[in-house]
Amino acid sequence: AVVDAPDGGYVDSADLEQREAGSGIDVRLRVLSQSEVPDLARHAPECIILWHRISLTAEFFALNSSCRAVVCASVGHEHVDTEAARASGVAVYHVPDYGVDEVADHTLALALTCVRRVRELDAHVRGGGWEWRRAEGIRRLRGSTWGVVGCGRIGQAVARRAGSFGMRVAFYDPYVHPGTEKAHGWSRLWSLHDLLAASAVVSVHVPLTPETAHLLDRAALETLAAGAVLVNTSRGAVVDEEALRGVLDEGRPGAVALDVAEHEPGVAAWLREHPRVLLTPHSAFYSVESMAELRCRSARAAAQVLRG
Ligand code: NAD
Repeated sequence: AVVDAPDGGYVDSADLEQREAGSGIDVRLRVLSQSEVPDLARHAPECIILWHRISLTAEFFALNSSCRAVVCASVGHEHVDTEAARASGVAVYHVPDYGVDEVADHTLALALTCVRRVRELDAHVRGGGWEWRRAEGIRRLRGSTWGVVGCGRIGQAVARRAGSFGMRVAFYDPYVHPGTEKAHGWSRLWSLHDLLAASAVVSVHVPLTPETAHLLDRAALETLAAGAVLVNTSRGAVVDEEALRGVLDEGRPGAVALDVAEHEPGVAAWLREHPRVLLTPHSAFYSVESMAELRCRSARAAAQVLRG
């Protein structure tokens, strides 16, 4: 097995080694960069544990005949060409439901920071000020609408939290189980544009698929209510960043918080410099506990594959 270990500290080979001591599983720990991927095929790993910043394309699967499985140590698996993997007999696993609470908490943290203008007020106090009027214009959350785009595990965890703030919850997700809205007292909207227009806060929780790439395009972003807060903790490419720049320049939305960017690692310079944009480095999934769970579950999946 080859374990992708960015920065030397991610999925630790010790997880697999300890678990599989004496099992005959040969674990190699490598810090992979995208440029090393073609070379990886020469090592002929039977299983790869993969971090989401590395892509495995059809070319890789064509080269690597010994690979039996790829375990994505992440929820998303859009960075692996699953069709090509399947055609080559390679199973692709992912870890679907770790870190749900972490991402939901992070989404709330980003939204509240924007709504309550925490960053701006903190800078004001640090600059020697003590003037509550710097908060003028902040609107009450209770009674306003939180719009959830993609109401799966994370979307629902966010919706529950928003509900506990006294907010009305509406969601757009054409695929989620019918009855989800009734069970929780949420509103289901069948039009993304209607949801964006009705919400004071919008948070995005869809997987990245051909259908959701640039789901929030120029036309969608233009329907956001003036002053709304948009939070994306799903995948960067779900939001068209160039279109976002345009609507921000025109004054709507009020603020945008992104944990993910279209071209990771890093973000476009204009995003870093924009005063109404709040950024975190794809860290929403993280807590000591969620990382331990991710490592353990990835290693367990790999070990099961290798044991046959
Ligand atoms: P999930 O599969 O439980 O939920 C996704 C929901 O999106 C589903 O209900 C699905 O029906 C819906 N959906 C799919 N296509 C849609 C479309 N075109 N329009 C509207 N809704 C659509 O997934 P999850 O565990 O809730 O994860 C959601 C996202 O969060 C994924 O993109 C994942 O990659 C991302 N994520 C990010 C982090 C992070 O650290 N930022 C961590 C974990 C997961």
